[in-house]
Amino acid sequence: MSTPSSDSPSLIEKIKVPLATETEEQTEVGNYFVANYPPFSFWDQEQKKEVYDVLNSPRPEDTNLGVYFHIPFCRKRCHFCYFRVYTDKNANEINAYLDAGIREFERYAQTSYLAGRKPQFVYFGGGTPSYLSVNQLTDLTNRMKDLFPWDETEEVAFECEPGTLTEKKLEALREIGVTRLSLGIENFDDHILELNGRAHRSKEAFRALGFAKTLGFDQVNIDLIAGMMDETPENWQKCVETAIEQDPDCVTIYQMEIPYNTTIYKEMKEAGRITAPVADWPTKRAWVDWAFDRFQEAGYTVSSAYTVVKNPETTKFVYRDSLWEGADLLSAGVASFGHFGGVHYQNQADVGPYMTELDSGELPIYRAYRTNHDERFIREFVLQLKLGKVKPSYFQEKYGENPVERFSAELKKLSDAGYFTADGDEIRVSRQGMLQIDRFLHGFFLEEHRDARYT
Ligand code: SF4
Repeated sequence: MSTPSSDSPSLIEKIKVPLATETEEQTEVGNYFVANYPPFSFWDQEQKKEVYDVLNSPRPEDTNLGVYFHIPFCRKRCHFCYFRVYTDKNANEINAYLDAGIREFERYAQTSYLAGRKPQFVYFGGGTPSYLSVNQLTDLTNRMKDLFPWDETEEVAFECEPGTLTEKKLEALREIGVTRLSLGIENFDDHILELNGRAHRSKEAFRALGFAKTLGFDQVNIDLIAGMMDETPENWQKCVETAIEQDPDCVTIYQMEIPYNTTIYKEMKEAGRITAPVADWPTKRAWVDWAFDRFQEAGYTVSSAYTVVKNPETTKFVYRDSLWEGADLLSAGVASFGHFGGVHYQNQADVGPYMTELDSGELPIYRAYRTNHDERFIREFVLQLKLGKVKPSYFQEKYGENPVERFSAELKKLSDAGYFTADGDEIRVSRQGMLQIDRFLHGFFLEEHRDARYT
């Protein structure tokens, strides 16, 4: 266990950030996180046929494949959640949804583009995948493996809500081949968990961490959120110290944002507020900055704008790294996002239309977008910048274009401001750049995509 060294200032000593006065530094409603490119608002229903064109083409020789399945069920809706989640479905309805997901995978497995391919990585996201029972999990994964075998899979990642985990369920996850267990702990303080609408409490988080350790998963990741409602410097400091004491392999820290479609936004709207009742951006950045320092003192390495890992040699995140290098992603389940051969797609966002499309023999795709060469180049470049360093030679070789030359004006602006450096075959993002990376990425977008809403 690690304790703060005597010359390390406490968060309270270090942070003397006054509340921001500039509007752009307040936390206002909206999505800031850049998850993909071009922005989702450019995808449309007319381009659905592009997905079928790819699926009817020959399988590629050298593109990795990932498989994602989305489980949209949760015990309770968190106040900051903007996903379409269901908190009222019974076991029969969940079984019907899982059967529909398998039908979706079956359709993909019959296409020339995907038939016979084995996934490099598998990811279960949500919602709450760990909401499923042991029987549902075993049955689901056996059927998925029959269609897309896991014998060459390097990573099986699984998102969990701590309160849904028993030792028996974790043993089952180990048994079915989960290698990366991701625990949505978010905070260790019960008052903050309750106020923000989380279903679990700290006791359940500690119990799940204890079980997970004894079962020997390759990787246990903890998710934390900086700036939940009622967060204080004292509590954030305690939260980070507790995470370090728990000794996870990896910690992911998000800065709280308040997208449209959250309970918090609805309450803001009713009260006529434009500023969310959470810390402003400079405060959240300072909290994450301090957390990164503390994790580094405890032996961790900052491996992206949101993650620290205990051992960078052994703790890989194949899902993230492969996707950010252009892997195909077969994504199934309601509202999920995937892409094949340069075509993005998103499924129907509600269970009703999703099931109806599958019942009628169609793929349940809602909207799609065919990227061109330039958009794929930009997509990989902006996503890889989130790792804090990018190799221009990789892009020269793959896309025939050097990002240092292509983005010289934008890179100069960011390097003059101290956020980026370009030196030899490396573009590096400074700590201050990493803490606000998502807002800088828009500067590399094509002109027509710059002001798009990210939903
Ligand atoms: S657990 Fe995750 S998906 Fe479920 S309601 Fe909370 S934030 Fe949303």
